[in-house]
Amino acid sequence: MPSPRGAEQRAADFVVVGGGIVGLAVARELLARRPEASLLLLERERELAGHQTGRSSGVIHAGIYYAPGSLKARLCVEGARELYAFCERRGIEARRDGKLIVATDEGELGALDELEARGRANGVPGLRRVGPDEVGEIEPHATAIAALHSPNTGVVDFRRVAAAFAEDVRAGGGRVSTGREVTGLRAGPGGLEIEHRGAGGADSVSAGFAVLCAGAWSDRLAVMAGAPAEPRVVPFRGDYLMLRPERAELVRASIYPVPDPELPFLGAHLTRTVDDEVLLGPSALMVGARDAYRLGKIRPRDLASNLAWPGTWRLVGRFWRTGATEISHAASRRAFVRQARRFLPELRAADVAAGPSGIRAQALNRDGSLVDDFVVHRTERALHVRNAPSPAATSSLALARLIADEAERASA
Ligand SMILES: Cc1cc2nc3c(=O)[nH]c(=O)nc-3n(C[C@H](O)[C@H](O)[C@H](O)COP(=O)(O)OP(=O)(O)OC[C@H]3O[C@@H](n4cnc5c(N)ncnc54)[C@H](O)[C@@H]3O)c2cc1C
Repeated sequence: MPSPRGAEQRAADFVVVGGGIVGLAVARELLARRPEASLLLLERERELAGHQTGRSSGVIHAGIYYAPGSLKARLCVEGARELYAFCERRGIEARRDGKLIVATDEGELGALDELEARGRANGVPGLRRVGPDEVGEIEPHATAIAALHSPNTGVVDFRRVAAAFAEDVRAGGGRVSTGREVTGLRAGPGGLEIEHRGAGGADSVSAGFAVLCAGAWSDRLAVMAGAPAEPRVVPFRGDYLMLRPERAELVRASIYPVPDPELPFLGAHLTRTVDDEVLLGPSALMVGARDAYRLGKIRPRDLASNLAWPGTWRLVGRFWRTGATEISHAASRRAFVRQARRFLPELRAADVAAGPSGIRAQALNRDGSLVDDFVVHRTERALHVRNAPSPAATSSLALARLIADEAERASA
């Protein structure tokens, strides 16, 4: 029997925690499949999409980087296709501007070959190897010895997409409750008891089934519900610089370096956003707060969580050199710009100003390996999205389908 709708909900067939793009996409998908069900979405902040979703590069990835057969590979290619179609239906601007991944020295050609092979195996539409002359035609100010061109990569404002998902949830009879932080989870005979608090005080709701999409805080909620402690979320701050408007003509679309194959980050890139600002970034610096939007902000609980996790020390041991470079980027605009000048030689430190910043919720295993693929764990009456870094925004519609399939199986 579906639970009754209305009043301050004390029971709901579905509760979704987290009002980022993943939680909203999941809520929308659950209601599309079960229109008679009652659904409550709880978001801690007063605004939706205020964390990763609202602070990304806004790139609709085409699916090049990801290991063939992985969830990222499949869901990114499917998700991008669905996202373009969704944006077109809803009148949200999404531009297929394309992107170049540029190799600037011989040592990067092997990694470029590997990316090309992955892109082809993943079914990325239109992917092509181009030489230096064609690089100049696509991006007149860029230099490279070889590059991959992906015409299906695009840009969008994921906040607008998330807002449209929220509209669908409300139109489908779901309730979106912001300013409500989930503080407790306990499986009982009648459902999963979810405690939450906010300006109106503490409250609770009994969920027939819950999906937790809490981004940087996902491990804490999962552990509260009885899931294993591994993987731990480690926050990586990404800072952007912004090209001054009079120099924005240096970049037509997106230019990415060949990434370090050991790391799940794509390297600091240049992207012309859907609002025609050109961003350079993001950096990748491990920080001491899961909301360290001010550099140097530390939350003792978050810092202790980083330091007490054996994986952190193993990661630092392996990547201390990369870490030192990232610290220099965080401290010096010049160092950051110098890196980008390898493929955009005309760029000068005076051409950029400080830009936005975001925090990646990156899951880290006990052995120090960064979790590459999307990860979803199951506990009694709940699913927990434990690793949904880039390209989860691009993949959100396809990821939501996978999660709804799993929720149907788990609650059958
Ligand atoms: C710098 C940066 C650049 C990126 N660039 C791209 C890109 O170009 N393309 C791309 O596809 N992806 C990109 N990503 C990744 C993408 O932004 C994320 O994969 C995606 O937004 C994840 O969505 P989410 O809903 O899981 O997380 P979030 O957007 O972080 O949402 C999680 C939500 O859960 C809420 N929450 C947490 N705890 C609780 C609680 N206890 N109770 C209630 N609510 C809670 C939070 O307040 C938050 O709103 C980027 C990410 C970053 C940080």
